Amino acid sequence: MALKANLRDFLDEEGNVLELTEQAKTVFKFLTKIVSSISENIEQPLIDVDLQCNSRADELFCLGGIAATGISLGLIEWHCDTCEASGTISHWQGSLWDKQERTIH
Ligand SMILES: [Zn+2]
Repeated sequence: MALKANLRDFLDEEGNVLELTEQAKTVFKFLTKIVSSISENIEQPLIDVDLQCNSRADELFCLGGIAATGISLGLIEWHCDTCEASGTISHWQGSLWDKQERTIH
């Protein structure tokens, strides 16, 4: 079962994080960690994110690592190297966690 996440669902119109439930906060931390890892290394085809599978929810026990890749412009795909967990993240570009270098004028 793939988790489709839209980063904007967690943000208000100004890009600030909404009041989140504890569960949503945990997921959001997981997603933003992937976004910053990918956007820092956008040239690389596959990134090993410094995250364990179980960090996306409290009741999970999988100790697998997370690998992520930018599959198309603005869409990140991630998966666990141990279990079936996977998902996508959209609408992350331009967010606070987008670490892509910008052209400085
Ligand atoms: Zn896993």
